[in-house]
Amino acid sequence: MISANLALVKSTLPNQVSLIAVSKTFPNDAVLEAYNAGQRIFGENRVQELTEKYEALPKDIEWHLIGHLQTNKVKYIAPFVAMIHAVDSAKLLEEINKQGVKNNRRINCLLQFHIAREETKFGFSFEEAVAMLESTAFRSWDNVRICGVMGMATHTSDEAQVLAEFETLNNYFEQLKARFFTNDAEFKERSMGMSSDYPLAIKAGSTMVRIGSAIFGTR
Ligand SMILES: *Cc1c(COP(=O)(O)O)cnc(C)c1O
Repeated sequence: MISANLALVKSTLPNQVSLIAVSKTFPNDAVLEAYNAGQRIFGENRVQELTEKYEALPKDIEWHLIGHLQTNKVKYIAPFVAMIHAVDSAKLLEEINKQGVKNNRRINCLLQFHIAREETKFGFSFEEAVAMLESTAFRSWDNVRICGVMGMATHTSDEAQVLAEFETLNNYFEQLKARFFTNDAEFKERSMGMSSDYPLAIKAGSTMVRIGSAIFGTR
């Protein structure tokens, strides 16, 4: 079932789009079923669940934290996390850098932007991100690597609105690329699109889709 769903989702993705299989709330057996079908990149939205799965499951899995991250929890994932998708403040990025120093590694991060109409979603505004990227503090944070941007669209059946929100995120990416990352080949990711809206995200330039229920079933 999971492997069939996985194959179906993969068949709809262009080559340049990577698949983050979102395994939150699903047991280790479900992750292993996808793993045995070849999937190696998994996403979780909670630090504790991510850490437990990391410890129990094969070590060649790339674990992405896709959910909101509290500053005081960065230390638990800093030794192993492959990418942190939802960096939404300078304070959080500073702490990730500090934990990167402690663990002697450079931690891959995406800047989360608020693109949805809903009030509850976390993220930078474009101006806030620019202010951080211009700061002298940011330039000293050598143990983080900014790989791109991430965002979540409004939960609505209005496809034109969802597409417009993803296009806004892609536009933020292009502007930041031109202004701060022109010679940085690592700044290339647009993490956007979930089970319900990923075809629209791909239309708008997504390079990473975060898909849970379409692979593992309803939560
Ligand atoms: C749960 C989650 C997803 C995946 O959602 P599905 O609807 O199950 O595909 C993607 N991104 C984030 C940030 C999530 O928390």
